[in-house]
Amino acid sequence: MLKKDRGICIRTTDYSESSQILTFFSRDNGKIGVIAKGSRRPKSSFTGTIEICTIGDMVFSHRDNEKLGTLTEFNPTFLGLDIRKKLLALNCAYFVAEMLNLFTKELDPHPALFDEAALFLQKLQENPPDKILPFLILFEFALLEQTGSQPLCDSCANCKRKFDAGWKQYFFSHSAPGLVCRDCEPAFVDKKIITPDCAACLNQPAKVLNAKPAVLGDVEKILIEYITNVIERPPKTAPMILELIRQRRTS
Ligand SMILES: [Zn+2]
Repeated sequence: MLKKDRGICIRTTDYSESSQILTFFSRDNGKIGVIAKGSRRPKSSFTGTIEICTIGDMVFSHRDNEKLGTLTEFNPTFLGLDIRKKLLALNCAYFVAEMLNLFTKELDPHPALFDEAALFLQKLQENPPDKILPFLILFEFALLEQTGSQPLCDSCANCKRKFDAGWKQYFFSHSAPGLVCRDCEPAFVDKKIITPDCAACLNQPAKVLNAKPAVLGDVEKILIEYITNVIERPPKTAPMILELIRQRRTS
């Protein structure tokens, strides 16, 4: 039976001379692997080779016991051409694709997460480089929330003391997991002291939209370390993002 959905291409592998094996994060069917026969041929029924982070309307067949479905139609609605010209934006797009792949399971839909990811890719396309990092951080918060992995940041993750601007010091711990107050920090060997501004952004993510570059860099570093801890290995695309952020801060 043919199914219709919207999907973000999150993984591509060339297969034979002319085809591709693709992973899509689709809105209503979740993550799904498909073969696109002939997609690399110039005159295929597809509009050409399908690139990572392309969003489009897809038609595919998939049987329950099958590992790979078959993509029969794909009409891209978002190619992200401007993203591909900008190094940081492009790496953020790859990072989103990797995160969607790592944080979701086959055929387990998360429509709200799909919408967040599609919106973030749109923002990468439209916004100047200095706006990319805040939007990336907001996407990471959304990803962690939608997949049930968010750190606790509205109070001390240990004693539940409510977060406020009057704490003497702020710590973040992966094992807590979340913000930890000064009274509780000795119990967490993996804690890191963080600045009050960094803590305020973790507590209220919307603050990243007006945060200084140094604070954004701190928050992003904490989040990538946290994500590394959740998935138990570093995301492949993270070092490049951290390096580009570092270069931007020192230039
Ligand atoms: Zn505490």
